[in-house]
Amino acid sequence: MALLANHIAVVTGAGSGIGRAIASGYAREGAQVVLTDVNADTVAAAAQEIRAAGGKAESFALDVTRREDCLALARQVAEKVGQVSILVNNAGITRRNAFTADAETVAKDWQDILAINLDGIFNVTQAFLAPLRARRGRIVNIGSIQSFVHLRTPSSVAYTTSKHGVLGFTKALAAELGKDGVRVNAIGPGFIETNINAQVRAGNPALVQAFLDHTPLGRTGKPEDIVGPAIFLASDLSAYVTGSIVMADGGYRTV
Ligand code: NAP
Repeated sequence: MALLANHIAVVTGAGSGIGRAIASGYAREGAQVVLTDVNADTVAAAAQEIRAAGGKAESFALDVTRREDCLALARQVAEKVGQVSILVNNAGITRRNAFTADAETVAKDWQDILAINLDGIFNVTQAFLAPLRARRGRIVNIGSIQSFVHLRTPSSVAYTTSKHGVLGFTKALAAELGKDGVRVNAIGPGFIETNINAQVRAGNPALVQAFLDHTPLGRTGKPEDIVGPAIFLASDLSAYVTGSIVMADGGYRTV
């Protein structure tokens, strides 16, 4: 039997990259998938791709920074699709300005990154809390190597702060919701080839190589590399796992 049969899974930022791959993987495992993204076109295409492959998928435009919209979407999903049992908080952005760069630019980065990567997780989780509690659901948050360390590859203090926050949120919520049977975990991807790092890959091969030199498996990751951990954390395979982060980083943090 498929690992996620009878589940309804919401994935944020599902129009591209890791979120899109997770949504497809969940559909292959029998879940009905609710794909959401700020970009209505890409997320509609992603859902269509899943349906064409025989899966069950709906798409909705959602900017995770808009709390009222998140609440409205949760009501809409409850009416049109059903009670959500899995939530993947995946939507995220980064910028690559040093803290010492232009003050206004860095301040804008801080606001935008924390609004999406951290407030967004709060907004969506709170919106879907009732069905997740009712169904003893599972929440999977996308952290990072930067849930633990700052990277010398151009990144921002805001991104590192946000991903440390994702891990803190994961632990705190796991502690609070354990009594309801809701499990809350995170995944820490390494360097995964997606739009988020397309510019770096195109324009700075030396930097990518420096990253690989620090990666025991010696390669960058693909979105598909995150799908297995995401299925594991959403399924009964991880029935006794909560408050954890599964690193899928090619071993980056071991050396
Ligand atoms: P991606 O391909 O850029 O996917 C991110 C998706 O989130 C995009 O579809 C993006 O839409 C969407 N998004 C942006 N702002 C949003 C908002 N306000 N509301 C809803 N959706 C929004 O990048 P990715 O690498 O798959 O990133 C997914 C997650 O993995 C992020 O949390 C990221 O921090 C994390 N992560 C990635 C890596 C990596 O190396 N790729 C490593 C560690 C962690 P638009 O493209 O239309 O803006």
